[in-house]
Amino acid sequence: MSARLDNLMMNYPLTLTQFFERSRRLWARKTLATRVPGQPLFRYTYADFAERTMRLAGALRALGLRKGDRVATFAWNSHRHLELYWAAPLSGYVLHTLNFRLSAKDLAYIVNHAEDAVVFADASVWPQLQAIRDQCPSVRRIVIMRDTPDAVVPPGLLEYEELLRGATPLDAWPQLAETDAAGMCYTSGTTGNPKGAVYTHRAVYVHCLAQGMKDSFGLSEEDVILHVVPMFHANAWCVPFTGVMLGSTQIFAGPNPQPRDICEIVQAEKVTFVGAVPTVWIAVKELVEKEGYDISSIRCIPIGGSAAPQSLIELYEKKFGASMTHAWGMTEMTPIGTVSRLKSYMREWPEEQQYAVRAKQGYPSVGVDLRVVDEEGREQPWDGKSMGEIQVRGPWVLASYYNTPESADRFTADGWFRTGDIATIDPEGYIQITDRTKDVIKSGGEFMSSVALESLIMSHPKVLEAAVIAVPHPKWIERPLACIVPKPEARDSLTAAEILEFLRPQVAKWMLPDDVVFIEAVPKTGVGKFDKKLLREQYRGWKPKDA
Ligand code: ADP
Repeated sequence: MSARLDNLMMNYPLTLTQFFERSRRLWARKTLATRVPGQPLFRYTYADFAERTMRLAGALRALGLRKGDRVATFAWNSHRHLELYWAAPLSGYVLHTLNFRLSAKDLAYIVNHAEDAVVFADASVWPQLQAIRDQCPSVRRIVIMRDTPDAVVPPGLLEYEELLRGATPLDAWPQLAETDAAGMCYTSGTTGNPKGAVYTHRAVYVHCLAQGMKDSFGLSEEDVILHVVPMFHANAWCVPFTGVMLGSTQIFAGPNPQPRDICEIVQAEKVTFVGAVPTVWIAVKELVEKEGYDISSIRCIPIGGSAAPQSLIELYEKKFGASMTHAWGMTEMTPIGTVSRLKSYMREWPEEQQYAVRAKQGYPSVGVDLRVVDEEGREQPWDGKSMGEIQVRGPWVLASYYNTPESADRFTADGWFRTGDIATIDPEGYIQITDRTKDVIKSGGEFMSSVALESLIMSHPKVLEAAVIAVPHPKWIERPLACIVPKPEARDSLTAAEILEFLRPQVAKWMLPDDVVFIEAVPKTGVGKFDKKLLREQYRGWKPKDA
């Protein structure tokens, strides 16, 4: 019998503890900072961060938490939030990031469903939670963080800095399994109640490794990261974890950051990496154009959450010298699924073709299996034309929602997660999201892409934002209606006819919107995406001209 060959490497658990301990030793002199309104950035070192995180872990233990207890955060991006990002999972608790932009009803549901044990809330957003405090019996303690210079801590509640001062730092982290829960996050409840994704240590660990790769976001110790993506949204795309793993300089955008704050920090701190959803970049663009901020230090703007228009990617590159990297993902995927980087030989292609590739959502990240499947469950060819639902699987894709048996239908019998996103995949492996299942427009039996129409309309020089929605039609069942926000200076001059004339040579006749309405602003969801559900409700009674 021959000697054993399998399993001769250490069974070393892939936990975040390893990243933290390595980071503590290697990057002690590097900087972390938070924007404080009206004051210079608050700065400290990775050594301070590590010491305080161990102190926080001691404080959490002293609060009587037990393994698996949920530690909720209700906060803007800050170094304190980062301390919680690490102290909770490394102690064996579960970091639960709560989105303070949700309705009181959804928030109460989520806190109760997750059975949060303690909540760390920023003083500026605490009143929202206070309003539902009585409906959340599982919450034993509340800790307030002073996020603004004039913040007030309500009587009877703990204060973060005091808690830390009084704590005995933990001297050693507990031994964890890589399958232990590190964090959780609820998706917005677009259909039914919000659902929870629970991230294992292993999922986050592997995701961080992949995200740092050059063919992904290419993050490294050299980067200066500005965190604008809310830390309550899909782990802020996991960048606060990857940033600590790598020892990057990290700046947290603080309470309620505005486009001007982003521009000022980028310019002054020579930020190299800053992600956000497209709506943020549309607003920043207006300001940079008007006031001439220098944002050319940025080497990568990961942009996603909703489709980034090609015109926006081109403008940032050509006018501001800042390169955008389009990516797709979701809360259920920790969140990265695909990243749109050019392959080396594509750099020889005509410029227009290169931008067309970069405007797609990209090819699957290493670690993510991806297929596009039609309504009958048949995998679609990589032809860039056939549409279907994206299904994924991999080590950072959720296998089941937290305690939600009724959502079992989101998984296929052969072990894939059904994303609910409709896309094509081209011969090079780049996906293009054409819609979310709930946003698709089906006119006379044919699907059309509202995303493609929006992207085209937003390339019109007089348009600030555009959302295309389905409205009921007696003959075609549904037809597209374009809801457009003109740029302020074009408010009186832009006409519906101008938009339709602009689109006519660029789209098939049947895809031309039936009408154009001008609106003040596109309603946004809690994370700044277009809320088309609200628009659809608003225009439900819209009468087609030809009906
Ligand atoms: P929700 O938007 O429901 O709150 P997530 O924040 O997890 O939940 O968003 C995930 C969804 O966002 C994806 O399923 C997809 O519809 C959309 N999305 C993410 N990135 C992109 C992108 N680059 N282009 C188009 N849609 C995107």
